[in-house]
Amino acid sequence: MISENIRRIQERINSACRRKGRDPKEVTLVCVTKEASLNDIIDAIGFGMREVGENRVQDALVKYKALQGKGLKWHMIGHLQTNKVKDALKIFDLIHSVDSVKLAKAIQSEAIKQNKLVDALLEVNTSGESNKFGIEPEKFFGVLEDILKLSNVRVLGLMTMAPLVSNQEGARPFFKKLKNMLNEANNKFDGLKLKCLSMGMTQDFEVAVEEGANIVRVGRAIFEGEV
Ligand SMILES: *Cc1c(COP(=O)(O)O)cnc(C)c1O
Repeated sequence: MISENIRRIQERINSACRRKGRDPKEVTLVCVTKEASLNDIIDAIGFGMREVGENRVQDALVKYKALQGKGLKWHMIGHLQTNKVKDALKIFDLIHSVDSVKLAKAIQSEAIKQNKLVDALLEVNTSGESNKFGIEPEKFFGVLEDILKLSNVRVLGLMTMAPLVSNQEGARPFFKKLKNMLNEANNKFDGLKLKCLSMGMTQDFEVAVEEGANIVRVGRAIFEGEV
């Protein structure tokens, strides 16, 4: 039952907030629809979901057209190829997965053409796993410095994916690391006030919220229930 799944997830987010003295309203639940059918997505919207996350531009375009007029906010959470930037900017409200200066520059030039200011998060490969996208932590501050120069790309914060681990606790160090990087960036660059921390998915969103996530990206727990 999707409604019951959503209710349980929200309860678990609320409890994680309570443990840390946080206000649950600070945490946005992004409903990751990449593997869901249109009917299931419409159900989830009926139960209050308005923020949707997709990882492929082509799939997102189809769903975007089918769901127009429902007041949704679209999140791009997957690796974005430069040749998909043009379409991506037409539909996405926030790009979580800016992982190179090259991609940011492609977004910048397309944003100028479309006369847009594009909200973006920088994806960091906090675990250093070779099968993951994301900026290497050692290169992060240099990459950020270059991207901050782009007038039409507005960096709001950071995103990461923790490694697959058998229990949530194993993900905690990677979330702590991302939060520290955000704080360090704000100290390092004059006037910078990054606020968004997009971290936590089905396997680890409670620990992510405990560590300061204000955007969690959840798919399977919504559409498949307890996993
Ligand atoms: C698929 C995906 C998610 C959601 O994962 P679930 O395990 O279904 O909750 C979150 N973030 C990214 C980047 C994803 O690709």
